[in-house]
Amino acid sequence: MEDLRVNMDRFKVDFEALAQIGATGDGGVHRPAFSQAHLAARAWLKQSILAAELAFHQDAAGNISGLQAASPDTTRTLLIGSHLDSVPHGGRFDGALGVVTALEVLRTVREAEIPLPFNLEAIDFTDEEGTLVGLMGSRALAGTLSQEELDNPRGGKDALAEGLRRAGLADPLAASRRPADLAGFLEVHIEQGPRLIDAGADIGIVEALVGIGSYELVFKGRADHAGTTAMDGRRDAGLGAAALVVAASRKVRADYADCVVNFGNAAFFPGAYNIVPASAQLGMEFRAPNQSRLDMLEQELLALARQTAADNILSLELTRQACVAPAPCALQIQEAFVAACDRLGLKHINLVSGAGHDTQAMAAVCPAGMIFIPSTGGSHNPGEYASWEAVENGANTMLQAALSLIAAY
Ligand SMILES: [Zn+2]
Repeated sequence: MEDLRVNMDRFKVDFEALAQIGATGDGGVHRPAFSQAHLAARAWLKQSILAAELAFHQDAAGNISGLQAASPDTTRTLLIGSHLDSVPHGGRFDGALGVVTALEVLRTVREAEIPLPFNLEAIDFTDEEGTLVGLMGSRALAGTLSQEELDNPRGGKDALAEGLRRAGLADPLAASRRPADLAGFLEVHIEQGPRLIDAGADIGIVEALVGIGSYELVFKGRADHAGTTAMDGRRDAGLGAAALVVAASRKVRADYADCVVNFGNAAFFPGAYNIVPASAQLGMEFRAPNQSRLDMLEQELLALARQTAADNILSLELTRQACVAPAPCALQIQEAFVAACDRLGLKHINLVSGAGHDTQAMAAVCPAGMIFIPSTGGSHNPGEYASWEAVENGANTMLQAALSLIAAY
């Protein structure tokens, strides 16, 4: 089994065929969830699954799978996959790489007639990118999607209803599975950043996907004439907000090298050139690799905000907003990836994913793990790129990790 490799000729044909569906002419694809191109990509995957003589399955959330059954019968399943949908005018690798890899891993295992202790399932998750509802398919399967979110989707209620109708779906929540039936989940994705290339590494083994906290902050001072009020006599809410942006950035650089903070939204009121701002509103988002760091960073940033308000004789209002819990990847799966890389002679590094992926949803209910391959050109744009060599390394690492899990079960 250690000598088994994916068939790259077949992989390339499939990957190129998929990249033509919704192609934008500049190397990218436009396949937002439930668009005509997305539905066409799903139809292509169904045909590919049937052609590979895998069992075809579609669930209530529109997740599409190819299955290779265990012997003897079991309800436990190891899932491998990613997503076929793209952001508007996105790239051809984001998501598609993971789906074609999953399909190729299953074909390779099937051809080698390897006895399976659990079912193997190659899966395409619906709307990972959140055109309508972020991580819709994976969270529906994990049972963590709520009716409330379906009632208030970020893409709009009408757009979601229309999309579900076009895909022939009625109740996505019915896709939820029993955690006891999930043996695990594996995903390969382009890195969408420079760390692997900077480190000269072939594979990034994801230790965790970051948790995200966000707050709205409002500093309140006093509106004054900007010409007749001395600098020392002001209670300038804008100055407080600006001081916090600088102080928070310094704090995170100095003491939280594994974290990030961002103030991506700001407004001063009343918002005139000649009035000292009476109030200043900031949108603050911060990310950390685990819950204790996230909690520590949150307390530190709030303390900094309060201190900044006090230093500038301002009052402060804080409103906690949507948060995402960090998702640690399962150790046994990280170890399977390490073993696979060692077997293949690939250089690997551990890293934390700063972005969300389907793995985040799956990690809530089963052992889940993820690898990155080196990519250039950023991501969520037509220029994202990974070499065939990198793609092959990723696919063989996924295959060998799956075989390790099969052997160890
Ligand atoms: Zn993706």
